[in-house]
Amino acid sequence: MKYGRKRVLVTGGAGFLGSHLCERLLADGADVLCVDNFFTGTKENIAHLIGNPYFELIRHDVTFPLYVEVDEIYNLACPASPIHYQRDPVQTTKTSVHGAINMLGLAKRVGAKIFQASTSEVYGDPEVHPQTEDYRGAVNPIGPRACYDEGKRCAETLFFDYWRQHGLRIKVARIFNTYGPRMHPDDGRVVSNFIVQALEGRPITIYGDGSQTRSFCFVDDLIDGFVRLMNSPDEVTGPINLGNPYEMTIRQLAELVISMTGSKSELITKPLPADDPLQRQPDITKAKALLDWTPGVALETGLTRTIDYFRARAN
Ligand code: NAD
Ligand code: UDP
Ligand code: UDP
Repeated sequence: MKYGRKRVLVTGGAGFLGSHLCERLLADGADVLCVDNFFTGTKENIAHLIGNPYFELIRHDVTFPLYVEVDEIYNLACPASPIHYQRDPVQTTKTSVHGAINMLGLAKRVGAKIFQASTSEVYGDPEVHPQTEDYRGAVNPIGPRACYDEGKRCAETLFFDYWRQHGLRIKVARIFNTYGPRMHPDDGRVVSNFIVQALEGRPITIYGDGSQTRSFCFVDDLIDGFVRLMNSPDEVTGPINLGNPYEMTIRQLAELVISMTGSKSELITKPLPADDPLQRQPDITKAKALLDWTPGVALETGLTRTIDYFRARAN
């Protein structure tokens, strides 16, 4: 760090997670540079930060080189939901792979510490449960999810090769399903779909029989995990799972959303998408031990805040 404030680059900073991260870093006293091409992110997500002298916004696509001077890089740029990442799958892989190369090249040139937003999708449809970091995954390399899963796996490869070959300080987080305010209302994710459907009184769409499981982490908890990982000693490179181990079936989630919104929506079933994992739950033993991190926001509390956000947008 050359000056009083740490200069931090957040790629994908206008997205759901990125906008919360920018807020948190500003609150911690950093000088934040947000880079986004607005593929899925919006100016609305960061409008309240514009005008803050320590916040800067650059419209830029990370598949092209970027020359800036920073102390830390959080690389979040990448569409994250199947509807978004399957819209232009070639660009999705390019964003993960070329984006990682450019940000690693930047980190190498300026000596910055660099964080990668990887994903539980590197485990594919897992054969072990819950998933620990040493599990190598079961990904279909040619399926419709591969552009995302394999792109993220290759980005991890690049991070570890830059670490081994060039001695970069890297931090790789494998993020599990996260929810909260500023989720996209129309990206097909289960939490936003169910809340929007319930608020509009439309049928709640359960894919398959609803017995598949997920574990949902509230965004504030996740962002706290990001910052703890970035601030951890250099030998803590990850990959490290970040998510809430509280697991539930999709049908249970639907019933909870209906009861919390007081909606009269009925439950209907639709076909299960291809390669949809049957169960997913993070093992966060490593995050607890190395980062002293555990998610603290209860599902009902986080859902209340998310429902309030979607209710306010609807008015
Ligand atoms: P998001 O779609 O809201 O945010 C992604 C941001 O990246 C958007 O603002 C988008 O415009 C930007 N972007 C996409 N391609 C870009 C490019 N080529 N150049 C510059 N900017 C680009 O998604 P999110 O949920 O905030 O996810 C952020 C990161 O976290 C992603 O890398 C995602 O893979 C990862 N992740 C998220 C979750 C989750 O549950 N939300 C789970 C696992 C991993
Ligand atoms: N790069 C960048 N910003 C920088 C330095 C590098 O975007 O400040 C990009 C550059 O375009 C290069 C990539 O990062 O293609 C990888 O850089 P590296 O130095 O590792 O490799 P090389 O320049 O030899 O390809
Ligand atoms: N899902 C569902 N109804 C919806 C949207 C999603 O039943 O309207 C299911 C989906 O098939 C998956 C789970 O909810 O089993 C989580 O889906 P999401 O896209 O949110 O996350 P991911 O599959 O990436 O974990």
